[in-house]
Amino acid sequence: MSADDVVTNWAGNIAFTARELRRPASVEELRTLVTGSRQVRVLGSGHSFNRIADTDGPDGTLLSLAGLPPAVDVDTAARTVRVGGGVRYAELARHVHAAGLALPNMASLPHISVAGSVATGTHGSGNALPPLSSSVCAVELLAADGGLVTLRRGDAGFDGAVVALGALGVVTALTLDLEPAYEVAQHVFTELPLAGLDFDAVTSSAYSVSLFTDWRGPRFTTVCLKQRAGHGVDFPWAAPATEPTHPVPGAPAANCTRQLGVPGPWHDRLPHFRADFTPSSGAELQSEYLLPRAEAVPALHALDAVRETIAPVLQVCEVRTVAADTQWLSPTYGRDSVAFHFTWAPDPAAVLPVVARTEEALAPFAPRPHWGKVFRTPPAGLRAVHPHLADFAALAADLDPAGTFRNGFVRNVLGLA
Ligand SMILES: Cc1cc2nc3c(=O)[nH]c(=O)nc-3n(C[C@H](O)[C@H](O)[C@H](O)COP(=O)(O)OP(=O)(O)OC[C@H]3O[C@@H](n4cnc5c(N)ncnc54)[C@H](O)[C@@H]3O)c2cc1C
Repeated sequence: MSADDVVTNWAGNIAFTARELRRPASVEELRTLVTGSRQVRVLGSGHSFNRIADTDGPDGTLLSLAGLPPAVDVDTAARTVRVGGGVRYAELARHVHAAGLALPNMASLPHISVAGSVATGTHGSGNALPPLSSSVCAVELLAADGGLVTLRRGDAGFDGAVVALGALGVVTALTLDLEPAYEVAQHVFTELPLAGLDFDAVTSSAYSVSLFTDWRGPRFTTVCLKQRAGHGVDFPWAAPATEPTHPVPGAPAANCTRQLGVPGPWHDRLPHFRADFTPSSGAELQSEYLLPRAEAVPALHALDAVRETIAPVLQVCEVRTVAADTQWLSPTYGRDSVAFHFTWAPDPAAVLPVVARTEEALAPFAPRPHWGKVFRTPPAGLRAVHPHLADFAALAADLDPAGTFRNGFVRNVLGLA
């Protein structure tokens, strides 16, 4: 790409290396591009913070599906939706809600593409809520030879095919399970001390709970409870906020979904950030680690012990819970998890050593990094915490024998680099 048309990720810390971003307007055009390329990577909405979506260099083909017809087909009788590979959650939620249906959970923002999100194991929060990929009951892939492959829940290989890092083929469509639409009210509380924290009681006090801290003290600055209509909120450990607040200190609360306990549609409350506003701080890097939920309190104390290292480059840290799932590469595979998310300053030189220090602090708890964020875990470390990497490598070799969809990031994860 020339300097004028260089394509970067949302955060701006990654400049993609392909000569140009190709935007096919039809599946036929997509097929021609794929079968005519030696290497292919698909870019979703570009909200990852590392080279996961990149090609290995200028000769690779980087594709966006944003030019394909934005299919969102709701089947009200089956309570499912089939969604095209380039569609974002905001668009999906609009259609699903209009049909009187809902997703069980959303991430902190609706700006991200569905296919790109499930490919990295993206999650929201909730003790009983697995990652967003758990809603997927079928995945349609355009393979390197131009053939279409559909894998359904229960098929051999399905458990490797959704959280797949873009390494199996172009996801042209996904089918997701739905449930009846519901309302959610969002309540924010302030100043929850770490001392004496009853983590299980706090995280089970609502449908979805997020705790935020700047690690400038041994306490959470805010706690966000998202409760489904018909259930009250009883939170005796902290005081209720009296005005809307943004999780990143100093950022405008207008960017956030409605708080103060006002009920509203699920898709307008479950994300922290509104679809038509900048999510998060807008100038940042992110990292996140998922570890067994039973380790939440010792791990919080391990982070507290290094908070003087973390705080100077941190905008905010969010602690969430995610239920176990069955996708092989999912960071919550087989274990109910606690997720420690870090929104860092947009300064890689200052942040990377702190990421390394944070990983050291969490190492005793077998952390799995979020695939879409900044991490330094080497391949041996990934192998130690992901029991199905070899199964995934075999699936990739089966569906994509020539390795058309593998890049440096994927080879590194699989230990093939
Ligand atoms: C402000 C902000 C807030 C965030 N909040 C959360 C959060 O609450 N929870 C959380 O877990 N994560 C969160 N993330 C991380 C984000 O959800 C992930 O990085 C997610 O993968 C982004 O989706 P995307 O569409 O931008 O994917 P991209 O970054 O574009 O791509 C991710 C991967 O998906 C692949 N891919 C994309 N589309 C296709 C396709 N059609 N076929 C095949 N492969 C494809 C790409 O090749 C790549 O491997 C956040 C990120 C940002 C910037």
